Amino acid sequence: MKLVDLCSETLPDGLDLSEEVLIGADLCGEIPRLAAAHVGRKPLWLADPRTWDALGRADTLRASGRPENGHGLHLLPDDPHANTEQIGLTCAAVEAGGFSGIIAVGAGTVNDIAKMAATLSGVPYMAFGTAASMNGYASGIAAILVDGLKTTIAARPPRAIILDSEVLCQAPPALAAAGLGDLLSKPVSTADWWLGNRLEGSGFETLPGRIVDEAVTHATEHAAGLPAGDGGAHEALARALVLSGVSMVVAGSSSPASGGEHLLSHLWDMEALVCGRELRLHGAQVGVATCLCAALYQHLVDLEDPEFPKAPNWPRTSERIRIAHGELAEAILPQAEKKFAGFAARTALLRAEWPQMREELAGLALPSAAEIRAVLQAGGAPASLGELGIERDEAFDALARARDIRDRYTVLDLAFELGFFPGGIRQVILTAGV
Ligand SMILES: [Zn+2]
Repeated sequence: MKLVDLCSETLPDGLDLSEEVLIGADLCGEIPRLAAAHVGRKPLWLADPRTWDALGRADTLRASGRPENGHGLHLLPDDPHANTEQIGLTCAAVEAGGFSGIIAVGAGTVNDIAKMAATLSGVPYMAFGTAASMNGYASGIAAILVDGLKTTIAARPPRAIILDSEVLCQAPPALAAAGLGDLLSKPVSTADWWLGNRLEGSGFETLPGRIVDEAVTHATEHAAGLPAGDGGAHEALARALVLSGVSMVVAGSSSPASGGEHLLSHLWDMEALVCGRELRLHGAQVGVATCLCAALYQHLVDLEDPEFPKAPNWPRTSERIRIAHGELAEAILPQAEKKFAGFAARTALLRAEWPQMREELAGLALPSAAEIRAVLQAGGAPASLGELGIERDEAFDALARARDIRDRYTVLDLAFELGFFPGGIRQVILTAGV
């Protein structure tokens, strides 16, 4: 199926999008044909031990394109991270074997490694997804850990994507639940994107949202089928996740699908890595963080008379960041400084136009935290901080600090610039019901 058949919107010409996307049952047998068409005669298969097993369970594939016949296999370690080390090793494997392209077998991490390594090596890649767990399959960015900082880097989307519902259904149910959580951030991240443009003129368009809207609604309506292993529910989710990736390519950034809720999730990841704690699933964190940001929007829309804070200065702000972020501060400071530079102009605009902006924000008609929680629960996804193993105090702390880690304006910044944070943080956690 061509990408254009997945959605009713007309996609702009001239974009570097995946050429073929197959979503449905019994598709493993298509791998050899797609590989021949898109990644050349001598592809390198990339997987981790668990995702390689998931492929092995697909009966039809055993007879087809396994790494015999001159193909190669680069097996990542157990629970790999998409960091510069794994990307470097994968690039080295491509070069050493003279491979013509990469076939990524896996979900978030394996795809990010494959996407980045293929881009750096100048070879094409295709994705065989083993779980509907995130929206990065079709996107033009990879989420990579660089010096402990979760960074999104531009990278070429896969030439082809296969999402076989039989394989997706066999994945641990927590993975599709995480995909649902990642998907549900869309209205809140889009609101943040709109907000950034309203205050900084950074650009906003409605087409990316329209590309994915109908598919998100369909996937949401079928969420209850995910824990039950329903193939149709997994296909609906997979389609929406692929289109979410496409929406990011069309926007030219992750903005349509990544706002303040993603900053919270990225901060939790970065701190887990510093402490040597195991990472939680990205989308599981994003789902709960989306409830927090939706609740925050609700409070700000209700805020008639903001008490604008005193203008901060950079020496004091950078000192706060050094204390608050410890060993991550050096990597964070350049991002925070860029955002800080726009403070005066944003505040002037907020002082002049907040009543009107409040109405515009209300007009976005964002879902409430309770509505988001209900869909998460139907899909078997974590819907509370407790289910993620996050204490309320940690959430408090993250809401206060997540804005620092990236030069992207979100509702977390707005809350501070309207003087609602830090005083209102506890209220937001209570309203979110998480
Ligand atoms: Zn995400």
